Amino acid sequence: MDGGGLLSGASDPARSRGRPIAETEAPALIYQRDRERIVQCTAFRRLVYKTQVFLNHEGDLFRTRLTHSLEVAQLGRSAARRLRLNEDLVEAISLAHDLGHTPFGHAGQEALNECVLRADPVSGGFEHNLHSLRIVDRLEQLFPGFDGLNLSFETREGILKHCSPTNVAQLLRIDPQGVAQRFVDRTQPSLEAQLCNLVDQIAYNAHDIDDGYRSGLLTDEQLDGVQVLAQLRADSLRAAPRLEGRRLLFDVLRRLVERHLGDLVATTSRALLQRPPATSDAARRLPPLVQMSSEVAEESAALKEFLRTYLYRHPRVAETTGLARQVVHDLFRAYLHDSSAQSPEAGSPEGAVRRVADYLAGMTDRFALREHERITGKRVFG
Ligand code: MG
Repeated sequence: MDGGGLLSGASDPARSRGRPIAETEAPALIYQRDRERIVQCTAFRRLVYKTQVFLNHEGDLFRTRLTHSLEVAQLGRSAARRLRLNEDLVEAISLAHDLGHTPFGHAGQEALNECVLRADPVSGGFEHNLHSLRIVDRLEQLFPGFDGLNLSFETREGILKHCSPTNVAQLLRIDPQGVAQRFVDRTQPSLEAQLCNLVDQIAYNAHDIDDGYRSGLLTDEQLDGVQVLAQLRADSLRAAPRLEGRRLLFDVLRRLVERHLGDLVATTSRALLQRPPATSDAARRLPPLVQMSSEVAEESAALKEFLRTYLYRHPRVAETTGLARQVVHDLFRAYLHDSSAQSPEAGSPEGAVRRVADYLAGMTDRFALREHERITGKRVFG
């Protein structure tokens, strides 16, 4: 443990690998400044109109990418504090982790990936993690001296959660900091990045159940079929026998998050005691140290499977995501082939396919629907 109270394997801002373009600044503040830049950027504000599971027009109470990101950030900070990891870095990565999402959630992303690969088979397709990095590295245009947000290596590394081999190769050719090198070396990202990854799962498992229930697509009987939920529901009712409905579910989900986050902190603490990394780089060379117990990891996987079966593949969700896919395909075709529908970024030096993908990926759900209506004359929803 160093003087600042951080764990020895935590990311110390004074030892940051710095920004792609060096800036004069107090090193201790580098991750805090990253966080400020992320919150100020355009892509961050657009998250409020991007879908998590339900399309944005379906209701005002459901999670969006923005509220999801805020939930991940706050759970992440809480776990980071308990583990003595760097809270500012965890917050910066969490707030940025979904910046690259297309409109219409996973359906939109899959559709855009298909469009890009079909139009340019060697392009590496569209990956939202890579696109998040592209936004913070290049697409945001706020600062006088550089494109992008010029974030620290550690924040950029955390944003690039996955990357396909094709895209790793492309990124290594252009990135001065070698942020994709770990996929070649098969090493881990920082402990803070590892934490964000798991906290993301904990957050969406819980809030997607909440949204699914609120929407009426998930029923009490279905929830009771999941062992951990049935058990936590019994715990809730033992503590407060008259709880029911949404208040009961909120209590159950609060217990679920506490259980999973608490397990993550306890299991990770044990792993860190067994193999204490001397530095953040030593932690990168070890197997993943931020982890859940096998029991809770199985619970988490079971919840994910439950959500996939009963919510993400629910006929009503499938119907709207099918329409959303069509919107993405129609828009992509129009922008690529019809110059009258062209995006404002036309004329930039990037290839046309990537330019159209960037433009489409940046859209909010509602803007994409408006554009679709403008171009095709068809109204898809409502
Ligand atoms: Mg996420």
